[in-house]
Amino acid sequence: MIIVPEKACPELMTLDAAVEAVEAVFGAMARGDAYNFPVVREAIGHADALYGFKGGFDRAGLTLGVKAGGYWPHNLERYEGLGNHQSTVFLFDPDTGRPVAVVGGNYLTAARTAAASAVSIRHLARKDSKVLGMVGAGHQSAFQMRAAVQQRDFERVVGWNFHPEMLSRLADTAAELGLPFQAVELDQLGAESDVIITITSSSSPILKREHVRPGTHVACMGTDTKGKQEVEAELLGAAEVFTDEVAQSVSIGEAQHAVASGLIAEGDIAQIGAVVNGTHAGRSSAEAITLFDGTGVGLQDLAVAASVVRLAQAAGKAIEVEF
Ligand code: NAD
Repeated sequence: MIIVPEKACPELMTLDAAVEAVEAVFGAMARGDAYNFPVVREAIGHADALYGFKGGFDRAGLTLGVKAGGYWPHNLERYEGLGNHQSTVFLFDPDTGRPVAVVGGNYLTAARTAAASAVSIRHLARKDSKVLGMVGAGHQSAFQMRAAVQQRDFERVVGWNFHPEMLSRLADTAAELGLPFQAVELDQLGAESDVIITITSSSSPILKREHVRPGTHVACMGTDTKGKQEVEAELLGAAEVFTDEVAQSVSIGEAQHAVASGLIAEGDIAQIGAVVNGTHAGRSSAEAITLFDGTGVGLQDLAVAASVVRLAQAAGKAIEVEF
């Protein structure tokens, strides 16, 4: 069995490799070759923690496993340097059921989430996109920006955040990527952006229908729970809507609100994997607004974990144990 410790993941897992892994598994999901198991999430009544499992099986990539973990709200204040989100991925041999690998899941969660919006940009954004708009400036935002800029020839980044004091993260990340950054109001962000990524924990709409101009691609990445919302439901009504998994999109994703209010139906939402596979044309015109509802599925975690195991083996950094 192979172990890839948490601290080895940032060095081994490139965002390129994460994008390839996530793109492939989205394709497998749309072909029916891969499926996610029902998610378990429990308040365990200890340390105020939320703990659960996200698993699945990818028959095409022969990846079987589970990500176990969740949220421990007091870690940061109680244990120096220990983040509140904690997860570990376990991979199994689908032929025998034997464990194949244990992989740190914290960095990989950030990487696979960034990869998902990057895959949506690769397949749905206009080829001539030049301006990236960021809504949100938390931990994830830097990852989303780094993976996004690999997909198009972006010339600059504009950003907005509910807590303006956090905007330095976007400025620093853009500087690291060699791109100019400007903090702007939402109307300017919408007027100038070709691609917008929303990555906040908001529970009411930030980005309105009127903010977004024709031809924009919007990747909504923050809404992964019932009750969260980043964009006005009317924006989904006006857009061509894509997602990782339709069942999650309508229940815990951004589409939950537009479907509940009757602005779109479940059948209006396409799987991004179908676009990857070429069975869906994707964006219908240069004027269409495309919107990707990235809800986050277990198969993404398994795909990047399997990828980092291969990278660790190739780099001679895999820790092998008899089990
Ligand atoms: P974070 O705590 O580091 O940052 C939170 C962000 O949300 C900040 O930009 C903050 O200013 C903003 N925010 C907080 N309260 C707000 C409010 N009331 N209105 C508007 N904005 C508000 O979190 P993060 O790690 O950057 O994650 C951001 C979101 O992405 C979270 O909701 C998280 O659950 C979600 N997420 C989704 C996936 C997925 O696969 N879809 C994966 C990881 C994280």
